[in-house]
Amino acid sequence: MLRYISTRGQAPRLGFADTTLAGLASDGGLYVPEACPKIEPGEIGNMANQNYLEIAWRVMLPFVSEDLSSEDLLRLLKASYKNFDTKDIAPLKELEDNLHVLELFHGPTLAFKDVALQFLGNVFDHFLKIRKEKVTIVGATSGDTGSAAIEAFRGKPNVNIFIFHPHKRVSDVQRRQMTTVQDSNVFNVAIDGSFDDCQDLVKAMFNDAKFRAEMKLSAINSINWARILAQTVYYIYAGAKLHDKTGKDVTFCVPTGNFGNVYAGYVAQSMGLPVERLLVATNRNDILHRFFVSGKMKTEGVVPTISPSMDIQISSNFERLLFDMFGRMPKAVAQTMEHFRKDGPFKMDDKVMEGVRKLFASGRMDDAQTSEVIKRTWQKYGYLVDPHTAVGLGVAQAYLAENPKSTVISLATAHPAKFPDAVKRASGVDPQLPERLADLHKRPEKYEVMANDLAKVQDFVRSGVKHAG
Ligand SMILES: *Cc1c(COP(=O)(O)O)cnc(C)c1O
Repeated sequence: MLRYISTRGQAPRLGFADTTLAGLASDGGLYVPEACPKIEPGEIGNMANQNYLEIAWRVMLPFVSEDLSSEDLLRLLKASYKNFDTKDIAPLKELEDNLHVLELFHGPTLAFKDVALQFLGNVFDHFLKIRKEKVTIVGATSGDTGSAAIEAFRGKPNVNIFIFHPHKRVSDVQRRQMTTVQDSNVFNVAIDGSFDDCQDLVKAMFNDAKFRAEMKLSAINSINWARILAQTVYYIYAGAKLHDKTGKDVTFCVPTGNFGNVYAGYVAQSMGLPVERLLVATNRNDILHRFFVSGKMKTEGVVPTISPSMDIQISSNFERLLFDMFGRMPKAVAQTMEHFRKDGPFKMDDKVMEGVRKLFASGRMDDAQTSEVIKRTWQKYGYLVDPHTAVGLGVAQAYLAENPKSTVISLATAHPAKFPDAVKRASGVDPQLPERLADLHKRPEKYEVMANDLAKVQDFVRSGVKHAG
């Protein structure tokens, strides 16, 4: 049976259910499968004609091992994708013969995080019911994750969810997507402070062992293995289709922050999907781009950009790739991460980087270039993209200019109406929210504004859990 091991080697090996509910490993590492299940080329060929749910079921089944029956997995998948507003879940749009866009924003909150979090919500619910357990989810958000998590866990009887966002520092659409959810198990708190303050409060709650146990705190951040797994599916879905049509290995271009999404592409490739390259696309916060060019990992200060969900310094999922770069030696990972945290930069061996660059390449776009891509894409194709998607498209086009024989699928990670100001400024077009969200600005909001004060916040969580039951 498939087991999961920690990248740092000091945590227990776990099955799928325990890995999902644990999130982070107890030694501070990340869980990865002990061995990656494979899919034969012939079977991938057949997938060109299968629908999203069929492929999701086939891709995920070997990873969930004995913890989910085949029927349960299918039931959870159906429940997870029933609220998407297109039948094919992840439509593939052609801009040019060799440039395609994979639209991942058709879920409830208009960003690709729904693809993983809708599934995670249902999986949590399933395992908690079986175990007769209740948990309290606490999370900090700079915008997209909060609303996707709330939509995933609203109304789930075994979960209370508290999401902290920085007061007046998220967009109107982002705030309203969180605060207009009326379910009694959902709590929104606007903290007088920055996103980092919110994140520090959440960390402090987890570090308070007594509070953590009392509230049965749980985390659902992007390092959760079940989220990665759910994202692996759309690479195989889109890759199989295009491979069948063109006969060529596909390159994926991925707008990247925490390295979760592009790592899922790496898993798809490891399972047997024919992939030419994985392009890591960053905004000005380009630590990953610099790494793939130089082999050196070095942080610099975060600068705010028009693609805020990628304004990240340290990409938490990168450790999973590092584990493979070190030949799966947990000791080397633990030492490197410890050094990185305490002393700063590290550099990978040139030989190792040579191997890494056979699969990974990278690029970066500043805000002016990103706006230019939004404008150009609208003028040339009549296709409106959000700033995150534009970062990807810009990097994809630069790659195609140098590799004209390649075929690229660029991932569209958010709906343009989620970032209306930047889109309008660049293109002159006011992106419209989909019908089902058209009245978002009229719905009543429910949230607390609180000072950046740990004791007060903990009291709020305690009393919220008590009242919600
Ligand atoms: C979270 C997010 C990203 C970055 O995804 P990672 O998995 O963190 O690399 C990109 N675009 C949008 C719109 C996002 O919400």
